[in-house]
Amino acid sequence: MTSALPSYEQAAALVAAYALEIRGSRPTAERVELARAAGRVLAQPLLADRDQPPFTRSTRDGFACRAAEASSHAALKLVGSIHAGEAPSGALPPGAVWEVMTGAPAPAGTDAVVMVEHAEANKGRVQLLPHRSIKAGENIVSQGAQAREGDLLLAAGTTIGSAQIALAAACGYANLEVFARPRVAILATGDELVTVEAEPRPGQIRNSNAPMLAAMVEAAGGEAWVLPTAADTAEALDAALARAAEADLLLISGGVSAGKFDLVEPALARAGARFHFTGVRIQPGKPLVFGEMPRRGKEAGKARALPLFGLPGNPVSSAVTFLLFGAQVLAALEGRADCSPRFALARLAPTADRHGKAGLTRFLPAFCTFGAGDELPEAGFVPWHGSGDLAALARSNCFLVVPEEAHHLEPGAIVRILLF
Ligand code: AMP
Ligand code: MG
Repeated sequence: MTSALPSYEQAAALVAAYALEIRGSRPTAERVELARAAGRVLAQPLLADRDQPPFTRSTRDGFACRAAEASSHAALKLVGSIHAGEAPSGALPPGAVWEVMTGAPAPAGTDAVVMVEHAEANKGRVQLLPHRSIKAGENIVSQGAQAREGDLLLAAGTTIGSAQIALAAACGYANLEVFARPRVAILATGDELVTVEAEPRPGQIRNSNAPMLAAMVEAAGGEAWVLPTAADTAEALDAALARAAEADLLLISGGVSAGKFDLVEPALARAGARFHFTGVRIQPGKPLVFGEMPRRGKEAGKARALPLFGLPGNPVSSAVTFLLFGAQVLAALEGRADCSPRFALARLAPTADRHGKAGLTRFLPAFCTFGAGDELPEAGFVPWHGSGDLAALARSNCFLVVPEEAHHLEPGAIVRILLF
């Protein structure tokens, strides 16, 4: 009964609360070289090893000066020249300037740099051009303006990208302590499935969910562990679940609808699983299952039960439910401080209408284009033939949210999208 199921917001709140609870519960960390740290999650604080910038620095080619002296337009004595990489040989004497290049340390006593374009240099004297002015602090960054030695620059839990790698390099970290990548078991179920290498016989299809989910898991920072496909029998599912118990997160695809061969829920129940919800008021993806399974065998000592998702087998359903819910738990297991799905706003393009479906929040394949101006990105529905339409999914780059109460979305309306 649909009305008894949690809404998208209720299910999302439940998963968010779970993610918050487990975040950081995997204290294992490892060291990686800086060059291999992209996409990982910091397990240590990143501290400034010295002041940043480490010396007062010119941000322009020009003349380091005292602004009070230079602004009088007096002809000041040129006493030396410093380029980036050199250290000043002394302080700035009164009534003088130093020639400096971008990135060069400014000598003690200077408080501004006159841009070379704003000055006239003649016979060892430098003068601010008549129509130019200069104030203290211009074209100069003081030592420690960004951080003082020992300051916390990044906290554990920060996702490492190019900017974090640059900052780590600037602070002398040749390697970083990062959280171990969670191992995510991916179990496709279904008698109709064959592997990508096999020639499907009549009635058979290739297993596309396992490679898709593996790619999504890896892109999100997890380590994908694809298990052999399980047949739609109690024995096959029991054996597969026993194996999967070693993982940090379990994604099962298929077998969670109400059909005669949808045997995943009973198998999970036999394995002692506890269900947080079995179904959500969303489309696609309504039969989604979220729960936890006790550990067995040598894994029995692990403190925490194994979080699991039973994703509906239709490819678009599997993709959207992982993105909406599974990715959040994975992010928490990775120790990320920020685990929430990243919705954005867009303007609805003039595409064919998609009516709301009574009582369900819809997440429909869409394509979003980013303009160069200050307009919102524009998102339009991709024509699709239901949740099995893998081609539509592959032509889209986001899901467009049609709220439960929306019966009709006007072109030009501001809508929410989830990029992937
Ligand atoms: P199910 O959720 O098992 O009822 O499957 C729903 C639909 O998704 C059926 O048409 C299945 O054939 C299809 N399906 C299930 N698992 C996969 C998979 N791993 N790859 C591609 N399609 C699948
Ligand atoms: Mg099935």
